Amino acid sequence: MSQNNNNPAPMRLTSFVTTDLCGITRGRSLPESEVAEQLVTGCGWVPANSALTPQDIIADDNPWGSHGDLRLLPDPSSRVRLEYGPDAQAAQLDYLHGDLVTTTGAPWPVCPRTLLREEIARYRELDLQVTAAFEHEFNLLGLADEHAAAFSLQAQRQTGNFGGWLMSALEQIGAEPEMFLPEYGRNQYEVTCRPTQGVAAADRAVNVREVTREIARQFGWRSTFTPLLAPGAVTNGVHLHLSLQRLDGTPVFYDEAAPSNLSKLAEHWAAGVLRHLPALCALTAPTAVSYLRLKPHHWSAAYACLGLRNREAALRICPVVEIGGKPKARQFNLEFRPMDATASPHLAMAAVLIAGRLGMQQELPLSAVTDVDPHSLSDAQREELGIKSLPGSLEEAQRLLLADSELCAQLPPALLQTYVSMKRQEQALTRELSEEQLCESYAKFY
Ligand code: GLU
Ligand code: MG
Repeated sequence: MSQNNNNPAPMRLTSFVTTDLCGITRGRSLPESEVAEQLVTGCGWVPANSALTPQDIIADDNPWGSHGDLRLLPDPSSRVRLEYGPDAQAAQLDYLHGDLVTTTGAPWPVCPRTLLREEIARYRELDLQVTAAFEHEFNLLGLADEHAAAFSLQAQRQTGNFGGWLMSALEQIGAEPEMFLPEYGRNQYEVTCRPTQGVAAADRAVNVREVTREIARQFGWRSTFTPLLAPGAVTNGVHLHLSLQRLDGTPVFYDEAAPSNLSKLAEHWAAGVLRHLPALCALTAPTAVSYLRLKPHHWSAAYACLGLRNREAALRICPVVEIGGKPKARQFNLEFRPMDATASPHLAMAAVLIAGRLGMQQELPLSAVTDVDPHSLSDAQREELGIKSLPGSLEEAQRLLLADSELCAQLPPALLQTYVSMKRQEQALTRELSEEQLCESYAKFY
């Protein structure tokens, strides 16, 4: 777009972004006309930024201090360009996801996107590809304060054509939107997109959040993906649907003859996730407000168990639809539920994949399977089935993570150290807050 003084117009900017360890997308912008040139070298970045808490405080004891320089190297295949929306005057949204690298171009071990890419490569070495979709629930703030019943057409209509704009924006950026729906809670909505492969699945999770925020902003509203808007509200989850295929595309989670259709490989994978699940929560449900969600009867999961179509189970075998002769093996997937939008999608997906890979490599036997509400079982019954409770607080989750030496050994030491110092700082910042204050502040951050 040309600019001159007679016809002033905002310069078109393109951003290079990284979604950091606390799941916040940060970056720098440059003139669009210079993007091609800058693709090779990226833009500058600061190591200590990786120790930023959601409160924007850099952790005191982070390993980086004021030293060092990095490059944020954009991935050309990840570009998002949103050209239109309900407010025709709004600036276009244009960004590329990037990896953090050293000034010589070597991978930087604290980058969550690099961690995910490297984990996907480990799956490829096992002749496996990863297909994933993140489902997002969120609240819209600023709607007229009218009662609209759960899941009702009225709840959808009270947003006017927000859903339509959101879906068209997601389609325009290539996120393959599937469904927009009013959820159970007041002013709570959900948006789902088709699964995609590898790192692009976590990039897509970020894109869904950023585009939802952008469309809400253009409507004069705000969206929040916080796990709990206010004490007593209905929780917002991020559910990660995963399936594996051979590199030639053959699905490997499904076995027509097996109980619950779970193949042996899928059993080992699920067993690995369940074994590491209490510790995984430190990475997938990583804030104090996450633990106001991970409670029984929130359909969010409070126990490490696998259930067939059971929404109280941390790992759920999703239904396949047989109507119209749709092939079952391609639909079959497992859903990881103890996740929320305060987690980095790249880090959380990498962590779940690591746990599943360990399960496959060690051929772990599957236990902790139940089709009843695990909370309705007695302690003795849960123990007999091998069902562990998920952590009840961020402190407990952090302790369990550090106690899971097998899982920790799979994470780059610098990433783990930075993450732990950042989370300790965050705990110190939130320890004294009431539930109301906690909900209120995280609704702003996410
Ligand atoms: N809102 C629930 C959660 O926090 C999920 C409800 C559903 O299954 O859609 O995870
Ligand atoms: Mg839902």
